[in-house]
Amino acid sequence: MSNGWGYADHNGPEKWCDNFPIANGPRQSPIDIQTSGASYDESLKALKLQYDPSTSLDILNNGHSFQVTFADDDDSSTLTEGPISGKYRLKQFHFHWGASDDKGSEHTVDGKCYPAELHLVHWNTEYPSFGEAASKPDGLAVVGVFLEIGADNPNLQKLLDAMDAIKCKGTQTSFTNFDPTILLPESLDYWTYLGSLTTPPLHESVTWIVCKQSISVSSDQMKKFRSLLFTADDEEACCMVNNYRPPQPLKGRYASARPPGQGPQSTFTLHAVMLDNLPAVQQTRCAVWRRLDQHFRLKRKGTADRQIPEQMPSVLLSFPAKLCNLWLSQQS
Ligand SMILES: [Zn+2]
Repeated sequence: MSNGWGYADHNGPEKWCDNFPIANGPRQSPIDIQTSGASYDESLKALKLQYDPSTSLDILNNGHSFQVTFADDDDSSTLTEGPISGKYRLKQFHFHWGASDDKGSEHTVDGKCYPAELHLVHWNTEYPSFGEAASKPDGLAVVGVFLEIGADNPNLQKLLDAMDAIKCKGTQTSFTNFDPTILLPESLDYWTYLGSLTTPPLHESVTWIVCKQSISVSSDQMKKFRSLLFTADDEEACCMVNNYRPPQPLKGRYASARPPGQGPQSTFTLHAVMLDNLPAVQQTRCAVWRRLDQHFRLKRKGTADRQIPEQMPSVLLSFPAKLCNLWLSQQS
């Protein structure tokens, strides 16, 4: 099957469910992050991002976005702590953006859109490879950073300079010695929730970590993003714009966050409960239990010598204690 998905009317987000029925699943991304209705939770930690610039390899126009790829054969560039447990390796980062400055981000905050959003994609080293991790419920962790119109951002310059070389779909060029840390905001306060890839195959495998603080981009710099093309050299040129999926239904998911002003040692976290309506909440919870149960059965099969019941999946760590206890009681 040719995965001819894109962002146009005939192959855009509204049509993805034809080939990828999970598009209507219980934990799809992005979402509108509603910041009201918050309560405290003590399970979340500060994010720990450790990136080695020498793992940066190349920059590619894949026809949907442009991405910088990293060597991920060892633990040189990793994400740990925050809402996840274990070690996740950086695989790539890419952006989503609009045709104009008033739209382009995938996540929105209380309905507010940003002109672009950066995604740093990491995979759980509990699995043997990115490919295997990408479909597991706790396989990926993506850090999202909003770009907001302001002053020229010099930290974007190396990326912008590379864009002329990757204008058309399928083109790539080497992109070495780049430290993605420079693309992060000063504060790493974040919202987190369980979601999915925002592009086909839309696997429900992502622990989302969305930074509250944005980074700056100028209108002129945004124009450079829009100079890229969705199309290959031999096709009629079509500008790469509006490559974002709109917010998806919450279906009873919880988003949690560390409150602003908390130092890295703080154990206080903010827990925002976001509920669509009660039946949906219950359906989703059932689906989550089923999924986790299945996940663990598979693991038991493959690793007979491990004491699986004692290991709580990292996805559960971002759940309220009550739900975790319920799950544990169902296991015994
Ligand atoms: Zn993305």
